[in-house]
Amino acid sequence: MNYSFDRKKKKAEWPAFVDIEEWKIVAPQIHIISSRCKECSWCIEFCPEEILEISDKINEKGYHPPRLIEGKTFENCAECHFCELICPEFAIFVKKPAEEEEIIVE
Ligand code: SF4
Ligand code: SF4
Repeated sequence: MNYSFDRKKKKAEWPAFVDIEEWKIVAPQIHIISSRCKECSWCIEFCPEEILEISDKINEKGYHPPRLIEGKTFENCAECHFCELICPEFAIFVKKPAEEEEIIVE
């Protein structure tokens, strides 16, 4: 480990452990399984980034599933997975593209 200690300042100067410039942050993708959604809006209400809204699509049950707000992108998702945790129907999930096995909707 490369760090120095300034005895006058009595404070260690620690190296940056992660050089953020070297890391490419891959945006996650938000997947919505429309047929499961019952339009409770919990994912919309509790998304900390406020990037979801009710869409004008209607699913088989007659409900409007959520969608990304126009002008927002996957880059705006904090990848907190809170929408996944709170959805009572397991109708929404967030994954990095590299982890993708299948794209369901949107
Ligand atoms: S993962 Fe978090 S920020 Fe992204 S859509 Fe879900 S609740 Fe919102
Ligand atoms: S929390 Fe789930 S069921 Fe409720 S609106 Fe969002 S996707 Fe649909």
